[in-house]
Amino acid sequence: MERTLVICKPDAVERGLVGEILGRLEARGLRLAAAELRHIDAETAGRHYAEHEGKPFYAALVAFITRSPSLVAVLEGPPETWKLVRSMIGATNPADAPPGTIRGDLALVTTENLVHGSDGPAAAEREIAVFFPALAEGATGAGGPGDLA
Ligand code: ATP
Ligand code: MG
Repeated sequence: MERTLVICKPDAVERGLVGEILGRLEARGLRLAAAELRHIDAETAGRHYAEHEGKPFYAALVAFITRSPSLVAVLEGPPETWKLVRSMIGATNPADAPPGTIRGDLALVTTENLVHGSDGPAAAEREIAVFFPALAEGATGAGGPGDLA
């Protein structure tokens, strides 16, 4: 089993689309390992989006992700679960995301693109540690401390 971080961003919570988004991931066969409604603070946003620090859109990105609560979740499934989730989310710019993807069906612009998914196993492990430290050890493998099944 492999785990990945999913964030239903503030626009998703504001628009009442959390059920739709998590429902799609669950219907695909992925399982929720953790989920929490959390108003992300600037410090946590900075850790999560550290790779984007210094980019022109960074300040707006932090302002967006901290403006109201997000639904932060860990999804688990087979190897390459992160890739499954990313393919279901669609391209960063919803205009490039095909119909059938979350962004392609439900979003219009890059700055309000509804959902985050880790972009690889290393990112998944790092990001899960940011939001769910108790799950961090063995985050992308089975049998970690958070595995209550
Ligand atoms: P996320 O990390 O949120 O899942 P992503 O991996 O598809 O999205 P990244 O390149 O990691 O895209 O960018 C992180 C977020 O920063 C994007 O989801 C988007 O909200 C914002 N962003 C990225 N590029 C731009 C841009 N050129 N202009 C404005 N905002 C941007
Ligand atoms: Mg990203």
